[in-house]
Amino acid sequence: MIVKEPKYIFVTGGVLSGLGKGIAAASIGNILKARGYKIFLQKLDQYINYDAGTLNPGEHGELFVTDDGAETDLDLGHYERFTDENFSQESSIMTGRVYSEVIAKERRGDFLGKTVQIIPHVTNQVKEMVRAGGSISNADITIVEVGGTVGDYEGMYFLEAIRQLKVEAGANNVLYVHVVFLPWLEVTKEVKTRPAQYSVRDLQGVGIQPDIILCRSDHPIPQSGLDRIALVANIPSNGVIPLETSPTVYNVPLTLENHGVGDLIVDKLKLDNKEADLTEWKNLVVKIMSDKRKITVGLVAKYTTMEDTYLSVFEAIKSAGWHHNVDVKIKWINAEDLESRGDDINEAMLDCDGIVIPGGFGERGIEGKIKAARYARENKIPYLGLCLGMQIAVIEFARNVLGWRDANSTEFNKETKHPVIHIMEYQKSIKDKGGTMRLGAYPCVLSRGTHTYEAYKEPSISERHRHRYEFNNKYRKEFDAKGMTLVGVSPNRELVEIVELKDHPWFVATQYHPEFKSRPTRAHPLFRDFIDAVIKTASLL
Ligand code: GLN
Repeated sequence: MIVKEPKYIFVTGGVLSGLGKGIAAASIGNILKARGYKIFLQKLDQYINYDAGTLNPGEHGELFVTDDGAETDLDLGHYERFTDENFSQESSIMTGRVYSEVIAKERRGDFLGKTVQIIPHVTNQVKEMVRAGGSISNADITIVEVGGTVGDYEGMYFLEAIRQLKVEAGANNVLYVHVVFLPWLEVTKEVKTRPAQYSVRDLQGVGIQPDIILCRSDHPIPQSGLDRIALVANIPSNGVIPLETSPTVYNVPLTLENHGVGDLIVDKLKLDNKEADLTEWKNLVVKIMSDKRKITVGLVAKYTTMEDTYLSVFEAIKSAGWHHNVDVKIKWINAEDLESRGDDINEAMLDCDGIVIPGGFGERGIEGKIKAARYARENKIPYLGLCLGMQIAVIEFARNVLGWRDANSTEFNKETKHPVIHIMEYQKSIKDKGGTMRLGAYPCVLSRGTHTYEAYKEPSISERHRHRYEFNNKYRKEFDAKGMTLVGVSPNRELVEIVELKDHPWFVATQYHPEFKSRPTRAHPLFRDFIDAVIKTASLL
């Protein structure tokens, strides 16, 4: 039952993919939240996957995890960072999930013997899922990003569903924002509007009249171009907004606000025109743009071609830098490259004031990461291990301090005599049911007098997980005795969540992914203190 139906803003994209539609949707969320509205964000994704869990992060970008354990694409991370809200499974709707719901209903006989069709059954399902999100979160406004590009064959049913929603919810309750790209033509030195015009026409062709058009471009857009688009699109000029590529994506909410997008939305949706308080956000952008001292953090990873693969880790590191008023240069270090270097990796690591090993799956690059963890431990370089980065630290310590040369995770070597990381017995039985992953938020209790406790300043925390393997409890005593302390455990003390090195300025590794809860205006405590330690190390070097 829907208690209160929110207003809806649908964000579509045209001309090409990769326009920053996710940033646009997140920024709209930002400026509306700044007006005091309760917002909810959602993404409709045309991939036939059930969720993003099986997508390759090297190609598709990071897999983002919510508190309730949804495996989503990286746009959810933008939503959370730009709005400082925690979203949920309801925020991520992929075609596979839409269809499996429809098929489950058909199997249950819910359609009373009718033939099941895209219209109305699949489109009804989409509308139901869109409505569920806003109503569960009790939002005033639900902002829905429609994945893909208008005109894509696969996304047609989403467009049909959002078209119908306006008819059902009423004209004052639904608004359409279309994001387009204006290419630059070097020969004539001008920004071209024709592809954008066609894409608006495509949208109108399926019965959707945009209210606002956001024009992305790498160059300044002359007013005449904006007017032209407005004329063709059938909307007043103040609804066509130039969105030139900005030095930081965090500037986008301010650009939208400066162009009156917030007021336009409030007018169109007949909301009260509340004053937007963007003070904190403005301060953030000033901080980001100011000249700052530079430090370098090495990110030792398997994929080193696309920043998006580790997006939340990048953002968490940068945010911690902004907190301390330094610019962090992130140096990609290819883990496989370290493998081919023999024992001495000094040259590759030389300019790193700190080292981060992010999450990952599979054997590739593991030995290189182990070398990097050893380098950090022995040279007293600050180290932050994230999920796989903790397992690596544990394996390295077992091999080089405890002297168990063959120590490993059973993910990489099933036969090892020292399986310091393994799958626990109770998990093996879960495997048979198909769900082996520990996903989403889990509580953890911290030991006092540790770097971790110093960072969080509270005895009990909750952080997001996405992994199969765990620290092997059989070895707890040996690690502790030699100086790798288990400083965070699950409340029942069964699972090791955080390890630290005693004899080291700052070496912390977590079985969870703190990066998912970091926000640009509120750096995550562990990243914040890691960067603090890095600054101190950099000053000594
Ligand atoms: N591959 C490891 C595991 O499954 C680590 C996963 C991760 O880093 N997200 O436990």
